[in-house]
Amino acid sequence: MDIMSNTVRKELIQLRRKFHQCAETGWLEFETSIYIIEFLKSQGLDLKYGKSIHGERIGLPSKLKMDAHKMQLTQMKVDFDTSEILEGYTGAVAILDTQRPGPTVALRFDIDALGLEEAKEGHRPFLEHFASKNKGMMHACGHDGHISMGLMLAKSLASQRDQLSGKIIFIFQPAEEGVRGAKSMVDAGILNNTDYILSGHIGFSKKNQVVCGTGGFLATSKLDISFTGKAAHAGAHPELGKNALLAGANCALNLHTLTQFGGGMSRLNVGILMSGTARNVVPDHAHLELETRGETQEINEDLLERVYRMIEASAHMYDVTYETKLMGSAPSYQFVSNEFTQHIKDIFGELDLEIIEGGSLGGSEDITYMLRTVEKKGGHGLFLLFGTDLVAPHHNPRFDFDETVLEQGYNCYMKIVTDLLEI
Ligand SMILES: [Zn+2]
Ligand SMILES: [Zn+2]
Repeated sequence: MDIMSNTVRKELIQLRRKFHQCAETGWLEFETSIYIIEFLKSQGLDLKYGKSIHGERIGLPSKLKMDAHKMQLTQMKVDFDTSEILEGYTGAVAILDTQRPGPTVALRFDIDALGLEEAKEGHRPFLEHFASKNKGMMHACGHDGHISMGLMLAKSLASQRDQLSGKIIFIFQPAEEGVRGAKSMVDAGILNNTDYILSGHIGFSKKNQVVCGTGGFLATSKLDISFTGKAAHAGAHPELGKNALLAGANCALNLHTLTQFGGGMSRLNVGILMSGTARNVVPDHAHLELETRGETQEINEDLLERVYRMIEASAHMYDVTYETKLMGSAPSYQFVSNEFTQHIKDIFGELDLEIIEGGSLGGSEDITYMLRTVEKKGGHGLFLLFGTDLVAPHHNPRFDFDETVLEQGYNCYMKIVTDLLEI
């Protein structure tokens, strides 16, 4: 089977640049999803989108933000119903069913951008006219490249369906940043009866390298907290007030003492603390945003329990009320070398790449929900890292990558899928 032609190479770059321009953050991938669906429909694939591919979504932006982003969209003429997508049921799932018996292979590509203002001066996407057209939103993690790989794989594999057996599920997942989208899709059952789940990420390794099997994913929880007290005149009757700012500040300070575990590393960061209205008013509201991480699922769960206790105690100290909201979560995942991963390593030998086994992401990624779901049922999962030169690190306004990584990633996926499904 032909792995790469010049047309594929060119189209991979074109698609990457098209999606780079319409960068949209988690649950706001309206235009992104519509373009993806349009492309996949034209390849004659069965499509699922909207509410049918989601369970309960967490970490949604406010209605105000959703409406504002909807207003910005240029009218798109498409022949399918986009109403649920525009309510934030973003992403898409395409199914290529060869109608021949064989395994089911799922490929997952994350599609969201980051809340960053893209750099201009000396920044290639700006100089070559494919910078983000959305203010304060930018593909600074390479997910534009992931979408491009996913769409081209769908196109190529659809055109080769006569030579394949089994089923391929292409998952275009929203809201990976902040670890929000995967659980919602898993809960909707999109991975039921899946034998293999494959995914990957651009970067985190050197050019011309592929990391075959990534672990070291930390379990994480993202939490919003609000304390509500009572405002009062700070001079005349401060005793009538209930100080939410002090509850929040005490809580933040004490939360940072909780990360001591003997069984593995853990992290906690209060990233936002906002409170107060004026110097002469006892503050009646405080808002905190924090995240926890743990080397194992157990550590993160234990840490989170202690976090909740600290919140309750802080509220009690200042006689204020509190509310918490889980905004994102992902379990941990460790790479374990097995027959399947060894086999993939062997077949990668035919690619012109340096193969590294068992890398570590050193962060969190909600693909872990999908890896765990499939492996729990006896299936296999694999997360690849496609090495590339980066102009600036991930999540930086100057982030950009060497686009040859697109064909390398595409080739890796193609190699695995054809190995598993070729007749
Ligand atoms: Zn990222
Ligand atoms: Zn990413």
